[in-house]
Amino acid sequence: MTNTLLFKSFNCCGKTIQCTTELEFVSDFATHLKHNATLFELHKFFLEKEMRTRDEYFRNRFGTGEEFKRNARKYLKAMGILK
Ligand SMILES: [Zn+2]
Repeated sequence: MTNTLLFKSFNCCGKTIQCTTELEFVSDFATHLKHNATLFELHKFFLEKEMRTRDEYFRNRFGTGEEFKRNARKYLKAMGILK
């Protein structure tokens, strides 16, 4: 799975905080989360987007319903996770 930066900037403390790496974003975001309640909404959106991306990833990879179960089981067996 690709590790893309979903948000590169956000507004807090009367300015735009620019981040160049994901680590920088996480650390800056955590700091400014204490200052700005609206960042909680962005944080929620950020997490929901990440979960949706993950959902899509698995759907694309394994399909849906019974097909998903069958393909996921096959994959986990191949990985040695499931016996
Ligand atoms: Zn701030």
